[in-house]
Amino acid sequence: MIESFAQLEQLGAGRDLADVFLETDEQEHAVPAADILEALRKRRAVMRDCVERGKSGGTSMGKLVGHEARLLNEAFQSGKTFLDPLTVKAELYALAVMGENSRMGVIVAAPTAGAGGVVPGMLLALEEERHVDPEKTVRALVVAGGIGSIIALSASISGAAGGCQNEVGVASAMGAAGVAYMMGGTTKQSIHAAAMALKNTLGLVCDPVGGLVEVPCVKRNALFAVHGLTAAQLAMAGVESVIPMDEIVEAMVRIGRALPRGLRETAEGGLATTITGSAIAQRIKDEANARRAEKAKERERAAQERKGGA
Ligand code: SF4
Repeated sequence: MIESFAQLEQLGAGRDLADVFLETDEQEHAVPAADILEALRKRRAVMRDCVERGKSGGTSMGKLVGHEARLLNEAFQSGKTFLDPLTVKAELYALAVMGENSRMGVIVAAPTAGAGGVVPGMLLALEEERHVDPEKTVRALVVAGGIGSIIALSASISGAAGGCQNEVGVASAMGAAGVAYMMGGTTKQSIHAAAMALKNTLGLVCDPVGGLVEVPCVKRNALFAVHGLTAAQLAMAGVESVIPMDEIVEAMVRIGRALPRGLRETAEGGLATTITGSAIAQRIKDEANARRAEKAKERERAAQERKGGA
């Protein structure tokens, strides 16, 4: 088992990082590399489908989001975006996946559903814009997953445990490592890309409005997809994180423990308790109560009818 990033850096020196993870899995879990790659080809296809479906938008279950991808896509298609196409597509694809998630569509949790737009946003946009062989994207998913699994050995990947740094932050680190790999980076560069992405999300709180994975989650995925691309770009230029990745993960765990309960997915702090966030939460509660009351009435009516018929 690869237990630390220091160990990964040693094992992966001068080697293809995806091969390092594939061989480790093969040795430890007796899962052939071919099977893992096939499973990830399917995941990539699900991500791709999800992006295509999500581009047309649609109102979310909580009615707070859902049209962001459509709006950005329309702006992009009509030449009204001003960022470069790679950046716009990374945002767009992350929004599309999260829109699907908010409508209960099928997505790939990477590493979680709430952070599921970041990795596909970065990797699929890069694949398209830099004409990367899709098979390389599949291998980048091995890298992203491997990075996530090392983090998960010492940290929880859950907003409830440690805030959004543990979800979107980790996703951004996974994607950054995958992007560096796709661009021909070394193992060290992938680790530094992950380190720069993760350390600059430390302290990110989990404060979903109304307790729904909609606000700020959907847009946050788009913004942190770009954040991950930036970290990968820096690493590919030779910039290194002064703080080693293992220590960044330790810091994330400490920060997560120090976060008050209200900022760990309880919807009792942060954006969730702003004036607007509180009003939305109240509206959701009122609507749920009204639905419950309506159902109770229906049951009562049905019972009366059964009595009358007897
Ligand atoms: S704010 Fe919370 S629920 Fe939303 S993506 Fe981040 S960790 Fe997940």
